[in-house]
Amino acid sequence: LGGSISRAIQQMSNATIIDEKALNDCLNEITRALLQSDVQFKLVRDMQTNIKKIVNLDDLAAGHNKRKIIQQAIFNELCKMLDPGKPSFTPKKGKTSVVMFVGLQGSGKTTTCTKYAYYHQKKGWKPALVCADTFRAGAFDQLKQNATKAKIPFYGSYMESDPVKIAVEGVERFKKENCDLIIVDTSGRHKQEVALFEEMRQVAEATKPDLVIFVMDSSIGQAAFDQAQAFKQSVAVGAVIVTKMDGHAKGGGALSAVAATKSPVIFIGTGEHMDEFEVFDVKPFVSRLLGMGDWSGFMDKIHEVVPMDQQPELLQKLSEGNFTLRIMYEQFQNLLKMGPIGQVFSMLPGFSSELMPKGREKESQAKIKRYMTMMDSMTNEELDSSNPKLMNESRIMRIARGSGRSVRDVMEMLEEYKRLAKIWSKMKGLKIPKKGEMSAL
Ligand code: GDP
Ligand code: MG
Repeated sequence: LGGSISRAIQQMSNATIIDEKALNDCLNEITRALLQSDVQFKLVRDMQTNIKKIVNLDDLAAGHNKRKIIQQAIFNELCKMLDPGKPSFTPKKGKTSVVMFVGLQGSGKTTTCTKYAYYHQKKGWKPALVCADTFRAGAFDQLKQNATKAKIPFYGSYMESDPVKIAVEGVERFKKENCDLIIVDTSGRHKQEVALFEEMRQVAEATKPDLVIFVMDSSIGQAAFDQAQAFKQSVAVGAVIVTKMDGHAKGGGALSAVAATKSPVIFIGTGEHMDEFEVFDVKPFVSRLLGMGDWSGFMDKIHEVVPMDQQPELLQKLSEGNFTLRIMYEQFQNLLKMGPIGQVFSMLPGFSSELMPKGREKESQAKIKRYMTMMDSMTNEELDSSNPKLMNESRIMRIARGSGRSVRDVMEMLEEYKRLAKIWSKMKGLKIPKKGEMSAL
């Protein structure tokens, strides 16, 4: 998507005469790209109309920076579409709030409930989890496991089959225990069924939630609008959380969910772990939708911290997207030195969270050094290869022996390599902006 949008804008800025046709071509291209990114057709069409109104052809002809004007217009329009105009209900610390989670099965409700609880717990709240999913076998166990890990009180039952009864009991209990954030997890089912919505309506009626959060998988595509609308029609959805933003989906469905529920997105889920949860921020989200995504801040940073003479080489490597073990080695070296390029590497989205989590720098450094010792036992062929199949059992055993580490250690290092290579490869083919260009957005 990003590629096609930037291409469309690029083509437009290369055209010497910007007439209506050129603008239309550009908008059509962008429309296609946004549709591919799961933005609902009607929303795209509205946006197209608005942009035409905003982008004044006379301004363009007069030689103002066309590219900037159009980019800005698209950017603003998408931001506006994500703003329903009023904030959602926000629970207050110390006052009891009941928050109910709804969404189809697999959307990430149970995971997100825990993340939401954990997020608040870290800020000194007293959250609690109630499992009102009696539909799926194992639902209570999953919530129990999550809650135990995060040391959050929970309530549920293996025996009781009435979700309304459990929800009410749980909420009552935690109110008595003075919890200030009582979170009710519900069942989902695979399809949008009458029984599901009736159940949601009953749970909501019985527990009187202060806020109902609709949880949406970022990869559900064009189904987002209908799904969100169906839930909104049964319960008073007041906020949206978009999950699995760590995957390939750009999350264009979020625009549909906002339009259908007239509620804002409040958080996004960026992984399976408890702390992979972020407060939703409109601008980076739209940047990502436009394909300039996570990288815009990153690119700015490169220009800021990497010495000029080292930029071309680094940018070249980044755009090739080809992450060899040797590049990883070099990056580790930089990281340990905390040289400027190391700083850049550590800013790669998704990089630091696992390899160098905050507060665990010492451990992380030891780990990186351990990885490097193992890489010292590798041949040039292994270091420069980008063929994952090369690292077979006998090579792994040789490296383990050579570095005095276990086979498991080597495997762990190779796993880490694979993870980083995946992040790195997202930059493949990225058009690298020259200094200053990114600030147009
Ligand atoms: P529920 O059926 O709506 O309760 O969904 P679950 O919470 O059980 O999640 C379904 C699957 O999605 C699980 O495997 C979760 O680990 C996974 N999941 C949830 N949120 C995220 C996320 O933000 N990123 C990724 N990668 N996986 C997620
Ligand atoms: Mg669940």
